[in-house]
Amino acid sequence: MISLYPEVLRLAKSKDYEKLGVSIRRCFLSEQQARPQLAVADLLDEMGFDVIEDASIAYLAVTLMVQSQGKLDSTIILQKRGADFKANFLLAHCLGHALLHLQFELLERSQTRAGFRETQYTLETFMQTDFTAAPVQKAALYEHEADLFAAALLLPQAMFVRAMQRLPRVQQVAEMFAVPAPFVVARKRCLGLDIMERAATRSDTSSPVSPRS
Ligand SMILES: [Zn+2]
Repeated sequence: MISLYPEVLRLAKSKDYEKLGVSIRRCFLSEQQARPQLAVADLLDEMGFDVIEDASIAYLAVTLMVQSQGKLDSTIILQKRGADFKANFLLAHCLGHALLHLQFELLERSQTRAGFRETQYTLETFMQTDFTAAPVQKAALYEHEADLFAAALLLPQAMFVRAMQRLPRVQQVAEMFAVPAPFVVARKRCLGLDIMERAATRSDTSSPVSPRS
């Protein structure tokens, strides 16, 4: 059975990805919550998810949820377990579907089982996303939402902003969180921090020069 705190349910329902990611770290990781690097497989274990490997499935990953007498069980089936960040992001994305979509489909529509299938590594999709507009079509929107949650869980906004203030290079931030540098760049775009940086640079260069005396 998966265990979810009321705060986690509330934040999942309001789709507040940033606070949801922080709340999950706080609820399930206790003293490890402040560590930048997060192994999602360990977190899922803490939350009561079953993560299994099955090379015979036709998808990269399947997230299943079953309801029985008001209790929820969830299993994530992976075609292949991976140790890299691409695999870590995929697991976080699957957790996003479970929290944001599946539990509400089961609890609110009285279904007994529901699931999501992944045909591609979602990290690549995330890094190419145009964050200025959310998809309109429901299936694409659900994928987008699961990606936003995964990014918020793996690179929490407050921790990320503090790291960027201390470390001048993207590569240093990437190493601190054990993520690829292009993911750091995409996360900046996702949070609108790239626009703020550009605006700050522009105002630096266009600031009036004091007249020569
Ligand atoms: Zn998905």
